[in-house]
Formats: sequence, structure tokens, C-alpha cells
Amino acid sequence: MKKKLIAGNWKMNGSLEANASLVRSIQGGLDAAQCHIAICVPTPYLAQVKDLIAGGNIELASQDVSAHAYGAYTGEVSAQMLREFGVRYSLVGHSERRQYHGETDATVAIKAQCALAAGITPIVCVGETLEERESGRTEDVVRRQLAAVIHANGHCISEIVVAYEPVWAIGTGRTATPEQAQQVHAVLRAQLQAATVHAERVSILYGGSMNAANAEQLLAQVDIDGGLVGGASLKAQDFLAIIHAAR
Ligand code: PEP
Repeated sequence: MKKKLIAGNWKMNGSLEANASLVRSIQGGLDAAQCHIAICVPTPYLAQVKDLIAGGNIELASQDVSAHAYGAYTGEVSAQMLREFGVRYSLVGHSERRQYHGETDATVAIKAQCALAAGITPIVCVGETLEERESGRTEDVVRRQLAAVIHANGHCISEIVVAYEPVWAIGTGRTATPEQAQQVHAVLRAQLQAATVHAERVSILYGGSMNAANAEQLLAQVDIDGGLVGGASLKAQDFLAIIHAAR
């Protein structure tokens, strides 16, 4: 069985002092590597966190990557630059980027391509809004979002990670039931299987108010290969409980 992946998304939180304390507390609570662990940190803290996690079991991730390789794109950070700082994974297409920064399916697909070209594994986020769920469009929406990435990345698709994050569950305290999540994960799995013979390599994470209390049941679902954790990744004890549930 594949090792699960638990990725913490700090979003725009942290400070030099708070990061050091959080990382040390997480490291202090880890026993022998049970699962893959990553933390998606704000860009200015990549160098600090790279040093803090050196030699341990936690891997470094960014929260975004530019759709451009280099040049006149003020404020952007390229995949190659992230790689220089030891970034192993990058979120792409997080719903907050799609919602507040106008990222389209096409942009997300190019970002995934840029990450892969630099040796970074993109964690491609897909998920429906509440309105889309209530109008019965969940499967169409996530399939459309993933299809764009498959189309742009061809056989490299087996090198990505997918995160199913229902938008209505992110930061709301409202979690998809294990059955609701499993149903969508099965749809994504089938889509990957149709796209590549190596679909089994692709981890499909669940994200959306995952916490210490609900992680075990979610992670027990056959097509849930890990979690993308926002709020709960900012508290060492909660994040550790999720990591321990991912054995
Ligand atoms: C996220 O930011 O990807 C996320 C899932 O957030 P939360 O766990 O807080 O819902």
C-alpha cells in the first residue's frame, strides 16, 4: 500500500518566531516516519523552514508557483527558484487562488507543467462550490478541473498529486462525510486510470476542515491517500494527531 501524504497548508500565517516553534513542536512529536509529511509555507519563509526541517522527515512545499519560467512578471516566483530552496511539492489551483486571483483551469494546468518541469510535484487542487454541489454538478466540475491538467501534461500526469477540496468545506468547519469524499475520489481515480496506466502512483488527498477528530475515518476510505490540512496544521498537536491517523 502507498504511504499516505499529509500536507499542511499554513496559508498566509506565521512569523519567524512562530514558525520555529511550530516546526520544533511537530518534529518533537513525530515517531518513525509513518507517512509522508509536507508543509506549504509562505514564500518568504521557505529558506527559514528549509533549514528548520533539514535532515528530518518533513518536506518543504510552496503554496503557489508561477505559470512563467522567468522574466518581466513582477511579484511572481518561478518553479526553478522554488526548487533552489528545496521545494518538493507546490500547491496549484488552491480554491483561494481560483477565487481571489482569477486562476482558470488553463492557468492551473500550466502551473502544474512548470512545477513538473522543475522537478517539483504539483498538488493540484480541485473542488466544487456549495452551489455547484447543490445543483448536482460536483462530478462535472472536478472532472473538468482535472481534465485541463491531464490534457496539458500528458504522460507526466502520473507524477502529480491531486487534492479534492470541496470549497464549502475549506475553513468552514464543515467537512465532507467520508462517503461524500470517497465518492468524488473514486471519480477522480477513474479519470486518472483512463489517462495513464500508472494511475496507482497518484495520491489523491482530501482537504476541507480535516481535523484530529475526523481524520481517521476520512483516511480509512479506499481512495483517500492523505490529507491537505489548513487550519489544523497551525497547531502542532492537531497536525500530529492527523499524521498519526495516517499510519
Ligand atoms: C486548505 O487550505 O487547503 C484547507 C483544507 O483548509 P482547512 O483545513 O482550514 O479547511
